[in-house]
Amino acid sequence: MKLFAIFGDPVSHSRSPLMHNCVFTHLHYPACYTRVHLQEGAQLREKFFTLGLSGANITVPHKEAAYNACDEIRGFANEVGVVNTIINENGRLIGYNTDADGFLFAISEFDNIEKILILGAGGTAKALAKRFIMEGIKVSVINRSAPRLAFFQEIGCQTYSWDTFKTKEYDLVVNTTSAGLKDDNLPAPLEIIENVLTHTHYVADAIYGKVTPFLEQAQQRNIPLKDGADMLLGQGVLANELFVEHSLSKEDIQNEMKKSFLL
Ligand code: NDP
Repeated sequence: MKLFAIFGDPVSHSRSPLMHNCVFTHLHYPACYTRVHLQEGAQLREKFFTLGLSGANITVPHKEAAYNACDEIRGFANEVGVVNTIINENGRLIGYNTDADGFLFAISEFDNIEKILILGAGGTAKALAKRFIMEGIKVSVINRSAPRLAFFQEIGCQTYSWDTFKTKEYDLVVNTTSAGLKDDNLPAPLEIIENVLTHTHYVADAIYGKVTPFLEQAQQRNIPLKDGADMLLGQGVLANELFVEHSLSKEDIQNEMKKSFLL
């Protein structure tokens, strides 16, 4: 029996255990998935091995620490220095990033996305921004604090802190901050939020399972929107394929994982 886990702080809200256990149980894969509340990202590697894990997902705020904990990084995670999935390959930790492709899957129903504003500059924002740029999308980023913006400038994004922000027209505004996850905060001052919401066609939030104060503002203006549930599904399917070493079909994984959203 293999053991998998999600590490995060907070982590009690995470639906990943339910999603992955649904796949393991219904597709008869001998594995179990749990959650670990981890406050210090630097302890990730030690905890991983102490628990005897075969793999893990990493959530807020440890995705950059997860990159540093790995022995080898594969694929898109190399582009951004952010890891959300780790596989134990014969005692070596291999890091991947499935968030960005999960998010592209999530917004595939929105048409003509050419200009995106990202709220936040953490691990998730990095992965999305880089992936959007690779797709030829123009990306702007606004964050509460300035130091994290350097990465985004280097990859060609227009960047702002709250006090330097100037609104443009956007096709999509995405909240990747953790504001609204465990509190009732908006991702930026109300004045900025009101401003950007009058200049976008679509809105998305990486947070799932609740209507965040940000989504509430979009709802009041009848802007087509989505929360982070489809992103969660998209990244989860890709992570599960890695966990089971591609021994199950992607379609079966997706079907079983979708069912967990009804629980
Ligand atoms: P990080 O900790 O790496 O980044 C958090 C970001 O949020 C930083 O830019 C930080 O700003 C900003 N922030 C935090 N609190 C506030 C606040 N009160 N007001 C404004 N900005 C704030 O987190 P992650 O990138 O890993 O995750 C971000 C969110 O995305 C989480 O809510 C997570 O649950 C969600 N997520 C959802 C996924 C899904 O599958 N649906 C997948 C991945 C993430 P500063 O730099 O100033 O500190």
